[in-house]
Amino acid sequence: MQTSRYDTSGRWYKGNVHLHSTASDGGRTFAEIAAMYAGAGYHFLFRTDHWVASDVAADPAEYPLLWLDGIELDGEDHGGSRYHVVCLGKVAGLSRDMGLVAAMEAARAQGAFLVLAHPTWMGNSQDDATRYGFDAVEAYNHVCRWLNGKGDAFVYWQMMLDRFPETLGLAVDDAHIRPEHPGWNGGWIMINAPELSPESVRAALRAGNYYSSCGPEFSTIECDGTQVTVETSPVQFARLVGPGWSGQREGSFEGSLLAAATFEIPPNWAYAYLEIEDAQGRRAWTNPLLRKNSDDTASKA
Ligand SMILES: [Zn+2]
Ligand SMILES: [Zn+2]
Repeated sequence: MQTSRYDTSGRWYKGNVHLHSTASDGGRTFAEIAAMYAGAGYHFLFRTDHWVASDVAADPAEYPLLWLDGIELDGEDHGGSRYHVVCLGKVAGLSRDMGLVAAMEAARAQGAFLVLAHPTWMGNSQDDATRYGFDAVEAYNHVCRWLNGKGDAFVYWQMMLDRFPETLGLAVDDAHIRPEHPGWNGGWIMINAPELSPESVRAALRAGNYYSSCGPEFSTIECDGTQVTVETSPVQFARLVGPGWSGQREGSFEGSLLAAATFEIPPNWAYAYLEIEDAQGRRAWTNPLLRKNSDDTASKA
């Protein structure tokens, strides 16, 4: 039984789930990062420094937005494949010495949400992407776009969806905010929740009740299980994306901009998500619109 993933009856909150501070190789302190992002309309950020498990509760400072805990792991698995993996959640006891795979397993055992980070930039294979039951993949990484144009990983996400139709997509900054890595506020998520709290952010993330964006906005995402209707900022195209060549679209190369779209989701598609594209070519995308059932939050591992 498939039901809609989305409940957009709450408020939208803007956040970023991948960034680095002076706790690892970032150029800014948590206070500086929080001030910059709050000024850009953000409500929450995750701390994901390299091999530094953050502990927001132990930080007495006051910030203009909500901080949440995380860590970024990296290393080789037993077959020699190299990964970067962002773990969202409060974890402890992880160190490089234990190796990547044991650290991922320990993070998952502590309830972390595991994200395959920038697979295009890593040169990961399709098998790499589907090997560890990742909860989500960075479909867009802003710093990797800056570094060598390898910020997009939609093809990995689509290959993961073919095998695991519950896999979630993300847009992230991976901000370091140093002269050689200057980018930030280029890829973000908008969660929908009744209120802003650590619990509501984590629940929306886990449920996939968010969309990812590099510019355009969804104001509503309404889906009854067979039909989806969205209201958006002005966009040139809206597309329902399905497996292989399956797709539906509205908009035109010459026509006026859209601010709403409706699609019927074919029952035989293994997955369907909706993307919008503005006149500058910037995209925003939903997660897979349908999920197995409303209380299935189990991981695929
Ligand atoms: Zn990384
Ligand atoms: Zn990173």
